[in-house]
Amino acid sequence: MAYVVSEACIKCKLTDCVEVCPVDCFHEGENMLVIDPDECIDCTLCEPECPIGAIYSEDELPLEQIKMIAVNAEYALKWPVITEIKDSPKDWEKWEHIEHKYPEHFSPNPGGGDDE
Ligand code: SF4
Ligand code: SF4
Repeated sequence: MAYVVSEACIKCKLTDCVEVCPVDCFHEGENMLVIDPDECIDCTLCEPECPIGAIYSEDELPLEQIKMIAVNAEYALKWPVITEIKDSPKDWEKWEHIEHKYPEHFSPNPGGGDDE
């Protein structure tokens, strides 16, 4: 079991969640974050940090977000680790309440991670 970042995070990459993770399992894409399911220790700390409620325990994932389990697992291997909060996207509020952002608005490109 692991925590999972849902598609709500797409274009709402606020990064409030990353600093609380004790095992550095957030990875940064161009427009969202994912959690590495092999590193996550289910500590629950990140879930309440997300201002838009995008993080779920895998066993509490809404049905329409099951697809994001594979997205988290795949892109955690491809994207760099992020442990420090970054500036929010300027237009994140515009995207906050938009549903079904995956795959249309998802970017497979990596973000800068901690080296940016
Ligand atoms: S549940 Fe804990 S270990 Fe898992 S991603 Fe969140 S903060 Fe990290
Ligand atoms: S705090 Fe929530 S919306 Fe922001 S990057 Fe983390 S998971 Fe995505």
